[in-house]
Amino acid sequence: MSGPWERRWHPLLDEWVIISSSSASRPWSGAKANAKTTALAKHDASCFLCPGVTRASGEKNPDYTGPFAFDNDFATFASHAPQTNDTQSLFATTAPADGRCRVLCWSERHDMTLADLPVSAMASITQLWRDEFELLQANPAVKQALLFENKGVEIGVSNLHPHGQAYGLPFVSAHAQRMRDAQARYANQHKQNLLISMLEHDSVQNALVVEKATHWSVLVPFAARFAYETWIVPHQAVTNLSGLSDDALLELGEVYHRQAQRYDELFQRQSPNITHFHNAPCDDDANNQHWCFHMAFQPPLREPDKLKYLGGFESAAGNITNPVQPEVAAGRLRELGI
Ligand SMILES: [Zn+2]
Repeated sequence: MSGPWERRWHPLLDEWVIISSSSASRPWSGAKANAKTTALAKHDASCFLCPGVTRASGEKNPDYTGPFAFDNDFATFASHAPQTNDTQSLFATTAPADGRCRVLCWSERHDMTLADLPVSAMASITQLWRDEFELLQANPAVKQALLFENKGVEIGVSNLHPHGQAYGLPFVSAHAQRMRDAQARYANQHKQNLLISMLEHDSVQNALVVEKATHWSVLVPFAARFAYETWIVPHQAVTNLSGLSDDALLELGEVYHRQAQRYDELFQRQSPNITHFHNAPCDDDANNQHWCFHMAFQPPLREPDKLKYLGGFESAAGNITNPVQPEVAAGRLRELGI
């Protein structure tokens, strides 16, 4: 392993990441996060996601148990967005914000994150992930079905009821285009899948694997952009959630559950996190075949009470500085014994 200052190439995003573990030992007099979890009620009558509550739209949630999904009442992309198609001028180009936004409640419990729920709950939750992806993918207006979870007040969630979201985008995001280009270029040059090659590489196998299950591995990426960032990568390439066998889908839920618990154990609290589901775009681009589905956790914490903010360097350069050596992060996550 090399020293505390190093640039590492991120092969999916085609960019440098700066690993600077020396920055983690700088004296800290800035803002601190609340390192303790705030206790929530099992049910909150003022929460629009709880069972039996009437939402802002006037619609009443059923008395559900288990996962429950509905159209976001405050959608960023709407099915009947105004048809403003104007590409006449570079400086006034517009297009309809057609699409769909869904809210995915993991369970009826207002106080239980995915890490807190019993692992048996993950079977129906992973089915929900797949169903919601397929619902959006089937919509001809949707070019990318983007599923994610924002978790914790530290990253600005507007509702504390544990939930994810699914956005059906009317375009392929800039991030996905870069990842698709990188994977297609690698597949054409090497006749192999980029993520599978990365998983099998010595740099990962020797020091970065946190867990190896039957269908999936959890790893810290070699060029991790966030302290304790991890990915869940399949052992066989598959483009999206729809292509998974039932066994692989079930195991994905179990592996996800363990990884979410590792973060809570590491930081000794309900830890904030952003989780991405990286499905291939669903437009008709032939390069989608080279995409490999994976999941990414991007925790904002570097310590229980210290958040990683994206500052001037990151916003100006677009490159990110990670204060924790990825091999050290993987070792700490493995040592938790989960
Ligand atoms: Zn709630």
